[in-house]
Amino acid sequence: MCACSSDIYRVVRDCVAADPQFSYCSLNVPGVMADNSAIEWTDATWNPVTGCTKVSRGCDHCYAERFSERFRGVPNHPFESGFDLTMRPERLMQPFTWRRPRMIFVNSMSDLFQKGVPHAFIDLVFDTMEKADWHVYQVLTKRSSLMRDYLRLRYGKGRVPQHIWCGVSIEDRQAKSRLVHLQAAPAAMRFLSLEPLLGPLGTLDLRGIDWVIAGGESGPGARRMDPEWVRQIRDECVRQGVAFFFKQWGGLRPKTGGRALDDREWSEFPTGSTLQLVAAE
Ligand code: SF4
Repeated sequence: MCACSSDIYRVVRDCVAADPQFSYCSLNVPGVMADNSAIEWTDATWNPVTGCTKVSRGCDHCYAERFSERFRGVPNHPFESGFDLTMRPERLMQPFTWRRPRMIFVNSMSDLFQKGVPHAFIDLVFDTMEKADWHVYQVLTKRSSLMRDYLRLRYGKGRVPQHIWCGVSIEDRQAKSRLVHLQAAPAAMRFLSLEPLLGPLGTLDLRGIDWVIAGGESGPGARRMDPEWVRQIRDECVRQGVAFFFKQWGGLRPKTGGRALDDREWSEFPTGSTLQLVAAE
């Protein structure tokens, strides 16, 4: 373990002592940290927090909830508490164990900026991301104003380091204020996840945005995405020079409808991303 690791563990220990809601589970369990993620726009997932609460229509068919609740009550399973919010301090060091650089989707099974996550714990997640800086981290939230406020507090007049990408999910017009919050956050790399896309977004001002991902909903009860909604987003990206990634049409399974849009696949990553080829491998 390197010196910075022991620093983090010291803070974790203090944090755990101060907050009884912290929970422990073993490191080598499924769902903790997944290399070779099935998500097309990342390499791996890292979940120092799991569990969440719903905030908008995009959460209606939350995959993380469906997956987690399958294991509620199973003794010693990492999701024994289902989708209840759970801090996982024992996972904070995991990015240090991956020596090869990866794109890491942070908290694919939760939302780091929900109100129940203590600032001290978010600090620890950022400490790890700053120190294990050979990776790219993709931090995605629907709590956009809370992320903006946190980043302002942490970085002051500075900026989030380039290898920590900050993104918001937007599913319909009602959620477009998240874009404004992201633009006001002191991030060096900003991205949008327009998935599951549930309605037309209308005009998009993409100033300050480096990357846009769009996709339809998948799973039981998936809501249909109108191709025109996606074309409008793609055209805005092309017009404003923003990298565009079309993930999927959606349906019962993620690959049901494929991912070709007007006879081509859109798999762009932000310019300057040294890891774009890693994710595309
Ligand atoms: S914010 Fe994300 S993780 Fe939380 S309930 Fe909504 S879709 Fe699920």
